[in-house]
Amino acid sequence: MGGRLAQVLGAGNGASPMEYWRQPLDLDRVTIPHGEVRIIRERCKGCGFCVEYCPKDVLALSEEFNQKGYHPPEVVDAEGCVNCHLCEMICPDFAIYSVASQEEDQCEPIQQAS
Ligand code: SF4
Ligand code: SF4
Repeated sequence: MGGRLAQVLGAGNGASPMEYWRQPLDLDRVTIPHGEVRIIRERCKGCGFCVEYCPKDVLALSEEFNQKGYHPPEVVDAEGCVNCHLCEMICPDFAIYSVASQEEDQCEPIQQAS
């Protein structure tokens, strides 16, 4: 890695390589959204795409079978969903989607770096 780039990224000085050196100006107004996942079990073919690609590891394939004989996903970390809709976009069978959490106070302010 080049010297200046390594210095900026913190490599070799014990700092985290992804540590930011400045903060967004609107950090105090930005919140982390929360979502609720809806699974249409009987449409699912158990491909596991939603489980594999959820960035927050909210889902896992269940032990149960649907009527087609597949294992549909289940929610294993409901609090972790950030309503990004990735599971919804990636599902080839339109068997899963997310909606914004009904509780507005579920949005959390982003933690300010010290
Ligand atoms: S909406 Fe995003 S965070 Fe929530 S379950 Fe789907 S992929 Fe995961
Ligand atoms: S991506 Fe869709 S079809 Fe595949 S496991 Fe998830 S819900 Fe089922």
